[in-house]
Amino acid sequence: MVSSSRTAATDTTASQKKEVIVRINGVLPHITKIGTQEKSERVAEVMRTGKYANTSCSIFVKSFDQGNTITYHLLFDIGEGVTRSVETGISELGLEDSLSIRTLESKSYPSSSATSGAPLFAQLQNAQKVPPTSAQLNFDALLITHSHEDHIRDLSDLVKKISQTKTVQKINIYCTRECQDQLRSKLSLSTDEYRFLNFSVVKPNEYFKIGPISIMSVSAYHGEDSPPGSAMYVVNVFEKKIIVGWDFLSLPDVNETILWNPDLAILGTETYNDHPETGMISVTEAYNIVRRWNAKECYILHYSGLKDFEEAKNQWFRGPVKALSLDELQRTIDSHLRLTGAEGKFRITVAKEGMIWTPKEEAIGQGYDKMVPIGRVLEIESLDRYVLKIEKDERNDKMMLVIEDRVNRYNLIFDKPYKDRDNEGMLHALGESGTFSKGPELVMELSMGTSSVPTLKIDVFKGRKSVFKDDVLINDNDALRFKQYIQENFG
Ligand SMILES: [Zn+2]
Repeated sequence: MVSSSRTAATDTTASQKKEVIVRINGVLPHITKIGTQEKSERVAEVMRTGKYANTSCSIFVKSFDQGNTITYHLLFDIGEGVTRSVETGISELGLEDSLSIRTLESKSYPSSSATSGAPLFAQLQNAQKVPPTSAQLNFDALLITHSHEDHIRDLSDLVKKISQTKTVQKINIYCTRECQDQLRSKLSLSTDEYRFLNFSVVKPNEYFKIGPISIMSVSAYHGEDSPPGSAMYVVNVFEKKIIVGWDFLSLPDVNETILWNPDLAILGTETYNDHPETGMISVTEAYNIVRRWNAKECYILHYSGLKDFEEAKNQWFRGPVKALSLDELQRTIDSHLRLTGAEGKFRITVAKEGMIWTPKEEAIGQGYDKMVPIGRVLEIESLDRYVLKIEKDERNDKMMLVIEDRVNRYNLIFDKPYKDRDNEGMLHALGESGTFSKGPELVMELSMGTSSVPTLKIDVFKGRKSVFKDDVLINDNDALRFKQYIQENFG
């Protein structure tokens, strides 16, 4: 059942705007991994530009609703220099107001169905007004990929600052169970200070929600000293998919269809040439990944290039044999993509600290407008692996269902489709009568279930034999569109 309040919260009319902004807060690996100024042009560049922050990004999600702007801020990793970089970013983007408004008046704050309690700012609802201090938190959630120092270094300091203010604020941390265990020993915090951390444990391959954002963690193998429970994150918001994927060599348990077709993939590439001993993929591997995932855009970061000096021993080696500056690296990538004919189709950008990414299309998430009829055909791109197409053939009283993933395509035709008598979000259809036998039947049900993500339960069967059966995860807009489609065509 869809409750009316949920419908209201996700019902988007054209007058409401939505915005997604990704900021690269830092691009550096651990300082001990980049070499010296004398040896590496990349290090010389770091010294010259003074951009020292470790690899991290922020995803800001703005929604404008009835004159109010609400900005959600997800922070991914918090290595050295990240907190300062984030402060700079927020002020450059002019987001202080929409973030701080929520710390003061939070009555209209939509409650999150996240796994553990209210988001950070919602907790302030019941708190006394806290005078602004430099320790004021400016993110709703911190998502940690793994417990290496260059991904958590600033966290202890931040906790200490917060613990010194008279505040009830807690830092909402999302990470795997293993990562949480490692943090307990790696962070230098007293028991009292540790209480300022509010952990939500994430499980690989399961969606969780923060505000309007659906996120899935994916297990990452990060080489020989891979901390157990290392992860990367797939973020879905307003029909945009962003992959936050650094510090991995491989993704052992992933269903790659989850990674299919991202609007932006952020990849950590330690070197240009393959050097699996770094525990990270290379730029060379990133070329394969953007093709395999069909990434519309790709940012790379965490580059040191230090191990690429080893290729200098081989006089026949044609690729880079040193640590490149970021501009040189970009030129090398551009010319590779030009030579392989992939320029234009795939774009790889060498990310720099402070870089901003926004989706290409002007308006996002205008997806659902109930004043606009859907018609006979409904297409849904699921959050995980499928593209669905439903088409009603009025004249012959038939329905066609096409289910496609990267491997298979089902073309199914049914007779006499009808809406369930008791369930607005449920369709039935009979098997198509053939000369000798009947085709499979269909039951399709929209369920908000126990999961925080709407699910289309599709069951195609012939007698006791299953032809297709799966729970297809879809976004809130598509759930509304599905219901409207049923209403229009079967109502
Ligand atoms: Zn690492």
